[in-house]
Amino acid sequence: MGKYRTQRVFACMVLLALSFTSCSGNSGDTDFPFSNSAVYFKKTKSVTVEVYYETGSEPFVGTRFNGKPLWSILEENLNSIFQYRSQIVDINIPTELNEMNQISPTGTSSWSTTAILNLHKENTLSLSSETSSIFYVYFVNGYAESGSSTIGFSVNGTPVVVIFKDVIRGLGGTPTQKFAEQSTLVHELGHALGLVNNGIPLASLYQDEEHGSHSINQDSVMYWLNEGKSDLVNFVQKFISSGSVEMWGPEELNDVREFSE
Ligand SMILES: [Zn+2]
Repeated sequence: MGKYRTQRVFACMVLLALSFTSCSGNSGDTDFPFSNSAVYFKKTKSVTVEVYYETGSEPFVGTRFNGKPLWSILEENLNSIFQYRSQIVDINIPTELNEMNQISPTGTSSWSTTAILNLHKENTLSLSSETSSIFYVYFVNGYAESGSSTIGFSVNGTPVVVIFKDVIRGLGGTPTQKFAEQSTLVHELGHALGLVNNGIPLASLYQDEEHGSHSINQDSVMYWLNEGKSDLVNFVQKFISSGSVEMWGPEELNDVREFSE
């Protein structure tokens, strides 16, 4: 328990017949004083994503179809979300496993928020400051305590995101899995950054309040895809076929344009 006792899951990505759903909660966290939307969109000079993975739950790496790194999908979406800052935000994303951090399997099969934050506390290599923001992504074996259909979640009020690799592996063929993994990263980092209405004020009325911090725009990565397998596969397939990896909707971009300094 300790200093992480107040953490709860705010946003998550759940697989229900291969669809996204969410869960909600709240946090009174004070252990991440520099991890909030105001820092990200008004002060920070760099955003770094650190990846930690349990042996057996390695992220997909390598290239996507156009020869760019697969992880440039996340990078391009982060560049897009920070395009309205008055200064360039330096985005640092690992692209290969040797730039990520392997950790020994913990043997945990059912992950609570507390367990994820304890894993973070035991493994983190660096801390954020007011001008250097770090997000921590954990790829783990096993499943979320909330259910074996959860793909991943972000812990509200923290820069900690978890991805359940066993669930990713259940998502169709390898190309679909690769893009679903990246879109899940974009989605969860979206929540961690403050979307939708999770720290960044709404510039327009597009929040799907019934489903928490999600968008009513079904073409946005922040949409709660709740209509079954075809929705997620179609969402991912659109990016595979078009070559575009812009996953934010115009509504999210409008929010950050209004909020950014
Ligand atoms: Zn969500």
